[in-house]
Amino acid sequence: MAKTKGAHHRGDYHVRARRVRDQANTDPTTTCWRCGHTLAQHPPHRDGKPATWTAGHTVDGDSSAPLAPEASTCNYSAGAKAGNARRGTGYDWP
Ligand SMILES: [Zn+2]
Repeated sequence: MAKTKGAHHRGDYHVRARRVRDQANTDPTTTCWRCGHTLAQHPPHRDGKPATWTAGHTVDGDSSAPLAPEASTCNYSAGAKAGNARRGTGYDWP
């Protein structure tokens, strides 16, 4: 195992993410790290699609943070919130 150091960093994300998702999908008692609910307790997306498990970084924006099961609805809203914060108050709502 004398491969270049650090190369595994990028390469094993897929593997770790899939493992987290697979585990969550096979265990209905898995809870979302962000809100503490099971998948069934999550509301569907606005377009009616049910929430699904994703592997979320436990620190927003830190891709080296550990992965944990996170419902797609929570993952999505967290991302949107972070994006809005980054953009600042660009909108002037009437
Ligand atoms: Zn959640």
